[in-house]
Amino acid sequence: MAAFDLVLLGTGSPIPDPDRAGPASLVRTATTRLLVDAGRAVVLRLAGAGVAPPMLDAILITHLHSDHVCALNDVVTTTWVTAPVPRPIRIYGPPGTRHFVGAMMDMLGPDIGYRIAHHDDLVDPPEIVVEELEPNATFTIGDVAVTVGRTDHRPVEPTIGYRLEHDGRAVVLGGDGVPCGSLDELCAGADVYVQTVVRDDLIRPVGFPRFVDILDYHSTVTDASRTATKAGVGTLVLTHMVPPPTTDTVDEWQAIAAQDFAGPIIVGADGQVVAIA
Ligand SMILES: [Zn+2]
Ligand SMILES: [Zn+2]
Repeated sequence: MAAFDLVLLGTGSPIPDPDRAGPASLVRTATTRLLVDAGRAVVLRLAGAGVAPPMLDAILITHLHSDHVCALNDVVTTTWVTAPVPRPIRIYGPPGTRHFVGAMMDMLGPDIGYRIAHHDDLVDPPEIVVEELEPNATFTIGDVAVTVGRTDHRPVEPTIGYRLEHDGRAVVLGGDGVPCGSLDELCAGADVYVQTVVRDDLIRPVGFPRFVDILDYHSTVTDASRTATKAGVGTLVLTHMVPPPTTDTVDEWQAIAAQDFAGPIIVGADGQVVAIA
């Protein structure tokens, strides 16, 4: 294992796909493990990456769209129930995260009550520490430096992306959104840039309005590759792809991205490990 790497836990979108879990990524050093977003089946994919939820140092949320947070309750409950000793669960996200987590904990109330009543050695409910982040915030978790950047996913607001740095190297997780100046800044010179992307050439002809609407606020493959070039990143990683690529269309996604970005391009798959170097 490289000393600083990224595991694509879930490369799917709201469209159910048995091979692609919901949006989630793990960024890890030898001693720090950060989960970015908590989409569908994230706990299963963490297990696939050899990470039990209590091993996470923090959970970073890009925005409160359901596909990015729908399995956060599973991360919280599994951490709480399986941790040998109680430990705080740290959740960072945009304003609104505290309300979301509070409502989620209310939802979990009956389960928390059952388990405390049943297990003599489980006496306290999960300890959750939520921190709401503003753009340009900087802080450190373990040996990873975090910088927060505003993204443009309107009308979904507020939304943020993360730049995570360790030992002089950087990965940016842009989350959902269209290109914007603050995303360019966040990405400047990063070794790896992970962007959620959609294919306008495949979505637009479908014609179903609710499907075509997703083009309004997501980067196309071309958008992501232009951002990558403008910001001078090392490797571009495509994730959250709509429609999901199949083994015979991966080359096509790669070729479209290569029209505007000359560096290495990864069309993400669940479980794929990317060295941040
Ligand atoms: Zn979204
Ligand atoms: Zn999404």
